[in-house]
Amino acid sequence: MKGKLTRRKFLQKGFLAALGAGLVSCAGPQRLAEITPVKPMDTVTPPPTFTPDELPTRPTFTLTAEAPPTPTAEGIPIPELHEARYYLQLDGNRVQCQMCFRRCTVPEGGRGFCRNKVNIGGRYYTMVYAHPSALQIDPIEKEPSYHVWPGATIFCTGTASCNNRCKFCQNWHLSQRSFEEIEHVVISPEQTVELAQEMGCDAVSFTYNEPTVFYEHMFDVAKVAKQAGMGTLFHTNGGMNEEPLAALLEHMDAVTVDLKAFTPEFYQEVSSSKLEPVLRTLQQIHQSGVHLEIVNLVVTTLNDNMYDIRRMCQWIRDTLSDEVPLHFTRFFPAYRLTSLPPTPAETLESAVQIADDEGLQYVYIGNYPGHERNSTFCPECGEKIIARLHFAVLSLDVEKGKCRFCGHSIPGIWRDA
Ligand code: SF4
Ligand code: SF4
Repeated sequence: MKGKLTRRKFLQKGFLAALGAGLVSCAGPQRLAEITPVKPMDTVTPPPTFTPDELPTRPTFTLTAEAPPTPTAEGIPIPELHEARYYLQLDGNRVQCQMCFRRCTVPEGGRGFCRNKVNIGGRYYTMVYAHPSALQIDPIEKEPSYHVWPGATIFCTGTASCNNRCKFCQNWHLSQRSFEEIEHVVISPEQTVELAQEMGCDAVSFTYNEPTVFYEHMFDVAKVAKQAGMGTLFHTNGGMNEEPLAALLEHMDAVTVDLKAFTPEFYQEVSSSKLEPVLRTLQQIHQSGVHLEIVNLVVTTLNDNMYDIRRMCQWIRDTLSDEVPLHFTRFFPAYRLTSLPPTPAETLESAVQIADDEGLQYVYIGNYPGHERNSTFCPECGEKIIARLHFAVLSLDVEKGKCRFCGHSIPGIWRDA
Protein backbone atom coordinates (compact mmCIF):
# COMPACT_ATOMS: atom_id res chain seq x y z
CA MET A 1 0.00 0.00 0.00
CA LYS A 2 1.83 3.07 -1.18
CA GLY A 3 0.80 6.73 -1.37
CA LYS A 4 -0.93 8.96 1.10
CA LEU A 5 -3.03 7.08 3.60
CA THR A 6 -6.28 8.97 3.82
CA ARG A 7 -9.12 8.53 6.27
CA ARG A 8 -11.11 6.78 3.54
CA LYS A 9 -8.27 4.36 2.74
CA PHE A 10 -7.65 3.75 6.42
CA LEU A 11 -11.28 2.81 6.95
CA GLN A 12 -11.52 0.78 3.73
CA LYS A 13 -8.38 -1.19 4.40
CA GLY A 14 -8.91 -1.48 8.12
CA PHE A 15 -5.15 -1.26 8.11
CA LEU A 16 -3.77 -2.95 11.15
CA ALA A 17 -0.55 -4.79 10.61
CA ALA A 18 1.36 -7.07 8.39
CA LEU A 19 -0.69 -10.15 9.07
CA GLY A 20 -3.92 -8.34 9.65
CA ALA A 21 -3.95 -9.46 13.26
CA GLY A 22 -5.21 -7.31 16.12
CA LEU A 23 -2.22 -5.86 17.88
CA VAL A 24 -1.32 -5.52 21.48
CA SER A 25 0.89 -3.02 23.22
CA CYS A 26 4.64 -3.53 23.12
CA ALA A 27 4.84 -6.55 25.38
CA GLY A 28 1.34 -6.54 26.68
CA PRO A 29 -0.56 -9.72 26.06
CA GLN A 30 -3.81 -7.88 25.65
CA ARG A 31 -4.76 -9.53 22.42
CA LEU A 32 -8.32 -9.75 23.72
CA ALA A 33 -8.99 -6.46 22.04
CA GLU A 34 -12.74 -6.55 22.19
CA ILE A 35 -14.18 -4.19 24.72
CA THR A 36 -16.85 -6.71 25.72
CA PRO A 37 -15.28 -8.60 28.59
CA VAL A 38 -15.71 -12.19 29.68
CA LYS A 39 -15.36 -12.74 33.36
CA PRO A 40 -14.49 -16.36 34.07
CA MET A 41 -10.97 -17.04 32.91
CA ASP A 42 -11.88 -20.47 31.59
CA THR A 43 -14.09 -18.90 28.96
CA VAL A 44 -11.39 -16.56 27.66
CA THR A 45 -10.14 -17.80 24.32
CA PRO A 46 -6.36 -17.69 24.23
CA PRO A 47 -4.89 -15.78 21.31
CA PRO A 48 -4.06 -17.75 18.19
CA THR A 49 -0.48 -18.78 17.68
CA PHE A 50 1.46 -18.95 14.46
CA THR A 51 4.43 -20.87 13.24
CA PRO A 52 7.13 -19.43 11.02
CA ASP A 53 5.73 -21.54 8.16
CA GLU A 54 2.60 -19.42 8.18
CA LEU A 55 4.45 -16.19 7.51
CA PRO A 56 4.02 -14.59 4.12
CA THR A 57 7.11 -14.64 2.00
CA ARG A 58 8.31 -11.38 0.54
CA PRO A 59 11.03 -10.62 -1.95
CA THR A 60 14.12 -9.17 -0.30
CA PHE A 61 16.47 -6.48 -1.55
CA THR A 62 19.88 -5.18 -0.69
CA LEU A 63 20.77 -1.60 0.05
CA THR A 64 24.21 -0.42 -0.96
CA ALA A 65 25.83 2.94 -1.52
CA GLU A 66 25.60 2.29 -5.25
CA ALA A 67 21.92 1.39 -5.10
CA PRO A 68 19.89 4.48 -4.27
CA PRO A 69 16.24 3.99 -3.40
CA THR A 70 14.32 2.78 -6.42
CA PRO A 71 11.36 0.41 -6.74
CA THR A 72 12.32 -3.20 -7.12
CA ALA A 73 11.10 -5.36 -9.96
CA GLU A 74 8.80 -7.10 -7.52
CA GLY A 75 7.10 -3.83 -6.75
CA ILE A 76 8.24 -3.71 -3.16
CA PRO A 77 9.21 -0.10 -2.55
CA ILE A 78 12.60 0.65 -1.07
CA PRO A 79 12.07 3.36 1.50
CA GLU A 80 13.29 6.85 1.08
CA LEU A 81 16.18 6.67 3.45
CA HIS A 82 16.18 9.10 6.31
CA GLU A 83 19.36 9.79 8.23
CA ALA A 84 19.36 8.28 11.69
CA ARG A 85 19.91 10.36 14.79
CA TYR A 86 22.37 9.64 17.58
CA TYR A 87 25.21 7.78 15.93
CA LEU A 88 28.98 8.15 15.78
CA GLN A 89 31.12 7.90 12.68
CA LEU A 90 34.11 5.63 13.24
CA ASP A 91 37.13 4.82 11.15
CA GLY A 92 36.82 2.59 8.11
CA ASN A 93 33.34 3.92 7.35
CA ARG A 94 31.95 2.17 10.40
CA VAL A 95 29.25 3.77 12.52
CA GLN A 96 28.20 3.23 16.11
CA CYS A 97 24.53 3.70 16.94
CA GLN A 98 23.88 5.49 20.22
CA MET A 99 20.12 5.00 20.26
CA CYS A 100 19.82 2.04 22.62
CA PHE A 101 21.86 0.09 25.14
CA ARG A 102 23.25 -2.19 22.45
CA ARG A 103 25.31 0.59 20.85
CA CYS A 104 25.76 -1.46 17.68
CA THR A 105 28.95 -0.94 15.73
CA VAL A 106 28.00 -1.41 12.09
CA PRO A 107 30.37 -1.83 9.14
CA GLU A 108 29.63 -0.26 5.79
CA GLY A 109 26.71 -2.05 4.14
CA GLY A 110 25.65 -3.63 7.45
CA ARG A 111 22.67 -3.19 9.71
CA GLY A 112 22.25 -2.87 13.44
CA PHE A 113 20.84 -5.55 15.71
CA CYS A 114 17.32 -4.18 15.18
CA ARG A 115 17.75 -4.47 11.38
CA ASN A 116 16.02 -1.13 10.85
CA LYS A 117 19.15 0.91 10.29
CA VAL A 118 21.74 0.59 7.58
CA ASN A 119 25.24 1.95 7.11
CA ILE A 120 25.68 3.37 3.63
CA GLY A 121 29.01 4.95 2.90
CA GLY A 122 29.75 5.65 6.56
CA ARG A 123 26.43 7.35 7.23
CA TYR A 124 23.64 5.71 9.13
CA TYR A 125 20.06 5.62 7.86
CA THR A 126 16.73 4.50 9.23
CA MET A 127 14.63 2.47 6.83
CA VAL A 128 11.31 2.85 8.58
CA TYR A 129 10.90 6.61 8.78
CA ALA A 130 7.38 7.40 7.53
CA HIS A 131 6.91 3.68 6.75
CA PRO A 132 4.84 2.15 9.55
CA SER A 133 3.61 -1.42 9.32
CA ALA A 134 0.87 -0.96 11.88
CA LEU A 135 -1.66 1.81 12.38
CA GLN A 136 -4.55 1.20 14.70
CA ILE A 137 -6.99 3.07 16.91
CA ASP A 138 -7.12 1.77 20.48
CA PRO A 139 -8.57 2.78 23.81
CA ILE A 140 -5.84 4.29 25.97
CA GLU A 141 -6.55 1.59 28.54
CA LYS A 142 -5.00 -0.91 26.15
CA GLU A 143 -1.62 0.84 26.32
CA PRO A 144 -2.08 0.29 29.32
CA SER A 145 -2.20 3.85 30.62
CA TYR A 146 -4.83 4.00 33.35
CA HIS A 147 -4.11 7.38 34.87
CA VAL A 148 -4.11 9.39 31.64
CA TRP A 149 -7.35 10.74 30.13
CA PRO A 150 -9.48 7.67 31.01
CA GLY A 151 -11.59 6.62 28.03
CA ALA A 152 -9.45 8.46 25.46
CA THR A 153 -8.82 7.01 22.01
CA ILE A 154 -5.26 6.86 20.76
CA PHE A 155 -3.90 6.59 17.24
CA CYS A 156 -1.15 3.99 17.44
CA THR A 157 1.86 3.51 15.19
CA GLY A 158 4.24 0.57 14.97
CA THR A 159 6.86 -0.59 12.49
CA ALA A 160 8.88 -3.67 11.78
CA SER A 161 11.52 -5.03 14.11
CA CYS A 162 12.70 -4.61 17.68
CA ASN A 163 15.91 -4.37 19.67
CA ASN A 164 14.83 -7.30 21.88
CA ARG A 165 14.06 -10.92 21.11
CA CYS A 166 11.40 -11.76 23.69
CA LYS A 167 10.29 -15.37 23.46
CA PHE A 168 6.79 -14.39 24.61
CA CYS A 169 6.31 -11.49 22.20
CA GLN A 170 2.64 -11.16 21.27
CA ASN A 171 3.45 -8.93 18.29
CA TRP A 172 6.27 -11.03 16.91
CA HIS A 173 4.74 -10.77 13.44
CA LEU A 174 6.00 -7.20 13.53
CA SER A 175 8.80 -7.18 16.06
CA GLN A 176 10.72 -10.18 14.81
CA ARG A 177 10.53 -9.27 11.14
CA SER A 178 12.67 -7.02 9.01
CA PHE A 179 11.23 -4.04 7.21
CA GLU A 180 11.16 -5.76 3.83
CA GLU A 181 9.46 -8.89 5.16
CA ILE A 182 6.18 -7.19 6.02
CA GLU A 183 3.83 -4.67 4.48
CA HIS A 184 3.93 -1.00 5.27
CA VAL A 185 2.28 2.25 4.29
CA VAL A 186 3.90 5.55 3.46
CA ILE A 187 2.73 8.31 5.74
CA SER A 188 4.60 11.39 6.91
CA PRO A 189 4.49 12.69 10.49
CA GLU A 190 2.21 15.54 9.37
CA GLN A 191 -0.13 13.12 7.58
CA THR A 192 -0.16 10.83 10.62
CA VAL A 193 -1.34 13.62 12.88
CA GLU A 194 -3.82 14.83 10.30
CA LEU A 195 -5.28 11.34 10.01
CA ALA A 196 -5.36 10.87 13.78
CA GLN A 197 -7.34 14.08 14.11
CA GLU A 198 -9.68 13.14 11.27
CA MET A 199 -10.34 9.87 13.06
CA GLY A 200 -11.28 11.76 16.22
CA CYS A 201 -8.37 10.52 18.33
CA ASP A 202 -7.25 12.35 21.45
CA ALA A 203 -3.61 11.34 21.33
CA VAL A 204 -0.96 9.58 19.28
CA SER A 205 0.86 6.56 20.64
CA PHE A 206 3.87 4.51 19.59
CA THR A 207 3.64 0.86 20.50
CA TYR A 208 3.26 -2.73 19.23
CA ASN A 209 6.96 -3.12 18.44
CA GLU A 210 9.66 -1.20 20.31
CA PRO A 211 9.43 2.50 19.37
CA THR A 212 13.16 2.98 19.99
CA VAL A 213 13.80 1.32 16.64
CA PHE A 214 11.71 3.94 14.85
CA TYR A 215 12.76 6.82 17.06
CA GLU A 216 13.19 9.37 14.27
CA HIS A 217 9.63 8.89 13.02
CA MET A 218 8.18 8.75 16.53
CA PHE A 219 9.98 11.93 17.53
CA ASP A 220 8.71 13.89 14.54
CA VAL A 221 5.13 12.63 14.86
CA ALA A 222 5.10 13.47 18.57
CA LYS A 223 6.45 16.95 17.92
CA VAL A 224 3.81 17.66 15.27
CA ALA A 225 1.09 16.16 17.47
CA LYS A 226 1.99 18.38 20.41
CA GLN A 227 1.96 21.43 18.14
CA ALA A 228 -1.52 20.36 17.01
CA GLY A 229 -2.71 20.12 20.59
CA MET A 230 -2.86 16.32 20.78
CA GLY A 231 -1.64 14.10 23.58
CA THR A 232 1.44 11.90 23.14
CA LEU A 233 2.56 8.67 24.75
CA PHE A 234 4.61 5.57 24.01
CA HIS A 235 5.09 2.06 25.31
CA THR A 236 8.68 0.92 25.55
CA ASN A 237 10.90 -1.91 26.71
CA GLY A 238 13.07 0.70 28.40
CA GLY A 239 16.26 0.13 26.42
CA MET A 240 16.64 3.63 24.96
CA ASN A 241 19.76 5.56 25.89
CA GLU A 242 19.69 8.63 28.10
CA GLU A 243 20.32 11.37 25.53
CA PRO A 244 17.67 10.40 22.95
CA LEU A 245 15.21 9.67 25.74
CA ALA A 246 15.71 13.11 27.29
CA ALA A 247 15.02 14.79 23.95
CA LEU A 248 11.97 12.62 23.31
CA LEU A 249 10.43 13.23 26.73
CA GLU A 250 10.23 16.92 25.86
CA HIS A 251 7.41 15.96 23.49
CA MET A 252 5.71 13.22 25.51
CA ASP A 253 2.92 13.31 28.08
CA ALA A 254 3.14 9.74 29.30
CA VAL A 255 5.19 6.57 29.00
CA THR A 256 4.40 2.95 29.78
CA VAL A 257 7.51 0.88 30.45
CA ASP A 258 7.82 -2.89 30.56
CA LEU A 259 9.71 -4.15 33.57
CA LYS A 260 9.74 -7.69 32.33
CA ALA A 261 11.31 -9.22 35.41
CA PHE A 262 13.66 -8.29 38.21
CA THR A 263 16.56 -10.58 37.40
CA PRO A 264 19.30 -10.07 34.79
CA GLU A 265 19.03 -13.78 34.02
CA PHE A 266 15.43 -13.49 32.84
CA TYR A 267 16.29 -10.56 30.62
CA GLN A 268 19.22 -12.44 29.12
CA GLU A 269 17.56 -15.81 28.67
CA VAL A 270 14.02 -14.82 27.72
CA SER A 271 14.49 -11.45 26.01
CA SER A 272 18.16 -11.50 24.92
CA SER A 273 18.33 -8.20 26.71
CA LYS A 274 19.44 -6.48 29.91
CA LEU A 275 17.74 -5.37 33.10
CA GLU A 276 20.06 -2.53 34.10
CA PRO A 277 19.22 -0.12 31.22
CA VAL A 278 15.52 -0.53 32.00
CA LEU A 279 16.01 0.45 35.64
CA ARG A 280 17.99 3.49 34.53
CA THR A 281 15.25 4.44 32.05
CA LEU A 282 12.56 4.15 34.73
CA GLN A 283 14.45 6.53 36.98
CA GLN A 284 15.04 9.01 34.17
CA ILE A 285 11.38 9.09 33.19
CA HIS A 286 10.25 9.41 36.77
CA GLN A 287 12.66 12.27 37.42
CA SER A 288 11.56 14.03 34.22
CA GLY A 289 8.04 14.44 35.53
CA VAL A 290 6.49 12.72 32.51
CA HIS A 291 3.72 10.41 33.66
CA LEU A 292 4.98 6.85 34.10
CA GLU A 293 3.24 3.48 34.38
CA ILE A 294 4.94 0.09 34.63
CA VAL A 295 3.90 -3.26 33.19
CA ASN A 296 5.11 -6.59 34.52
CA LEU A 297 4.00 -9.50 32.33
CA VAL A 298 3.89 -12.49 34.65
CA VAL A 299 5.04 -15.47 32.61
CA THR A 300 4.16 -18.82 34.08
CA THR A 301 7.20 -20.51 35.68
CA LEU A 302 9.69 -17.96 34.30
CA ASN A 303 9.22 -14.78 36.34
CA ASP A 304 6.43 -15.65 38.78
CA ASN A 305 8.79 -16.07 41.72
CA MET A 306 7.19 -14.06 44.54
CA TYR A 307 10.55 -13.31 46.15
CA ASP A 308 11.66 -11.45 43.00
CA ILE A 309 8.28 -9.78 42.64
CA ARG A 310 8.61 -8.46 46.19
CA ARG A 311 12.11 -7.14 45.47
CA MET A 312 10.75 -5.44 42.34
CA CYS A 313 7.93 -3.78 44.28
CA GLN A 314 10.34 -2.58 46.94
CA TRP A 315 12.62 -1.11 44.28
CA ILE A 316 9.70 0.74 42.65
CA ARG A 317 8.58 2.11 46.02
CA ASP A 318 12.04 3.13 47.23
CA THR A 319 13.63 4.31 43.98
CA LEU A 320 10.64 5.74 42.14
CA SER A 321 7.47 6.27 44.15
CA ASP A 322 4.66 4.32 45.74
CA GLU A 323 2.34 6.27 43.41
CA VAL A 324 3.67 4.81 40.14
CA PRO A 325 0.91 2.57 38.74
CA LEU A 326 2.01 -1.06 38.35
CA HIS A 327 0.20 -3.50 36.06
CA PHE A 328 0.62 -7.25 36.50
CA THR A 329 -0.57 -8.65 33.19
CA ARG A 330 -1.56 -12.13 32.31
CA PHE A 331 0.60 -14.14 29.94
CA PHE A 332 -0.95 -16.18 27.14
CA PRO A 333 1.10 -18.73 25.21
CA ALA A 334 2.64 -17.12 22.14
CA TYR A 335 5.58 -17.12 19.76
CA ARG A 336 8.30 -19.36 21.26
CA LEU A 337 6.52 -19.99 24.55
CA THR A 338 3.47 -21.83 23.32
CA SER A 339 4.10 -24.74 25.68
CA LEU A 340 3.57 -22.66 28.81
CA PRO A 341 0.07 -22.29 30.29
CA PRO A 342 -1.63 -18.92 30.77
CA THR A 343 -0.87 -17.24 34.08
CA PRO A 344 -3.32 -18.49 36.72
CA ALA A 345 -5.44 -15.85 38.42
CA GLU A 346 -4.02 -16.93 41.78
CA THR A 347 -0.49 -16.03 40.68
CA LEU A 348 -1.56 -12.55 39.58
CA GLU A 349 -3.49 -12.06 42.79
CA SER A 350 -0.50 -13.16 44.87
CA ALA A 351 1.65 -10.60 43.06
CA VAL A 352 -0.93 -7.89 43.71
CA GLN A 353 -1.07 -8.84 47.38
CA ILE A 354 2.69 -8.47 47.65
CA ALA A 355 2.60 -5.07 45.91
CA ASP A 356 -0.18 -3.97 48.26
CA ASP A 357 1.79 -5.19 51.27
CA GLU A 358 4.85 -3.25 50.11
CA GLY A 359 2.78 -0.10 49.96
CA LEU A 360 2.31 0.46 46.24
CA GLN A 361 -0.88 2.44 45.86
CA TYR A 362 -2.08 1.71 42.35
CA VAL A 363 -1.69 -1.94 41.45
CA TYR A 364 -3.62 -3.57 38.63
CA ILE A 365 -4.28 -6.91 37.01
CA GLY A 366 -4.36 -6.70 33.22
CA ASN A 367 -5.49 -8.99 30.44
CA TYR A 368 -7.99 -10.59 32.77
CA PRO A 369 -11.37 -9.21 31.70
CA GLY A 370 -13.73 -8.56 34.53
CA HIS A 371 -11.19 -8.83 37.34
CA GLU A 372 -11.87 -6.41 40.17
CA ARG A 373 -8.27 -5.18 40.16
CA ASN A 374 -8.77 -3.80 36.69
CA SER A 375 -10.36 -0.81 38.42
CA THR A 376 -8.76 2.04 40.37
CA PHE A 377 -9.37 2.38 44.10
CA CYS A 378 -8.59 5.46 46.15
CA PRO A 379 -5.68 4.56 48.46
CA GLU A 380 -7.05 6.95 51.10
CA CYS A 381 -10.75 6.03 51.43
CA GLY A 382 -10.85 2.75 49.48
CA GLU A 383 -13.67 3.80 47.14
CA LYS A 384 -13.64 2.63 43.54
CA ILE A 385 -12.84 5.81 41.63
CA ILE A 386 -12.39 4.46 38.09
CA ALA A 387 -14.47 1.39 37.26
CA ARG A 388 -13.16 -0.56 34.27
CA LEU A 389 -14.32 -3.64 32.47
CA HIS A 390 -11.26 -4.71 30.50
CA PHE A 391 -10.58 -1.65 28.28
CA ALA A 392 -13.91 0.08 28.91
CA VAL A 393 -14.26 2.83 31.52
CA LEU A 394 -17.62 2.37 33.22
CA SER A 395 -17.45 5.23 35.69
CA LEU A 396 -15.03 7.97 36.61
CA ASP A 397 -15.00 9.51 40.05
CA VAL A 398 -11.83 11.52 39.75
CA GLU A 399 -12.57 15.23 39.68
CA LYS A 400 -9.83 17.72 38.94
CA GLY A 401 -7.28 15.06 39.82
CA LYS A 402 -8.84 14.21 43.18
CA CYS A 403 -10.96 11.40 44.54
CA ARG A 404 -14.57 12.57 44.39
CA PHE A 405 -15.29 10.86 47.73
CA CYS A 406 -12.46 12.08 49.98
CA GLY A 407 -10.47 14.61 47.96
CA HIS A 408 -7.25 12.57 47.90
CA SER A 409 -4.94 13.59 45.02
CA ILE A 410 -4.64 10.90 42.35
CA PRO A 411 -1.48 10.95 40.21
CA GLY A 412 -2.06 11.19 36.48
CA ILE A 413 -3.25 13.47 33.71
CA TRP A 414 -6.91 14.29 33.90
CA ARG A 415 -9.09 16.06 31.37
CA ASP A 416 -10.57 18.54 33.85
CA ALA A 417 -7.45 19.22 35.94
S1 SF4 B 1 10.31 -8.50 21.34
FE1 SF4 B 1 10.17 -6.26 21.40
S2 SF4 B 1 8.02 -5.83 20.94
FE2 SF4 B 1 8.13 -7.98 21.55
S3 SF4 B 1 7.74 -7.97 23.77
FE3 SF4 B 1 9.97 -7.88 23.47
S4 SF4 B 1 10.43 -5.70 23.57
FE4 SF4 B 1 8.23 -5.84 23.19
S1 SF4 C 1 18.59 1.13 17.84
FE1 SF4 C 1 19.09 -0.69 16.61
S2 SF4 C 1 21.02 -0.20 15.59
FE2 SF4 C 1 20.77 1.28 17.26
S3 SF4 C 1 21.89 0.42 19.00
FE3 SF4 C 1 19.75 -0.24 19.18
S4 SF4 C 1 19.65 -2.24 18.15
FE4 SF4 C 1 21.56 -1.24 17.51
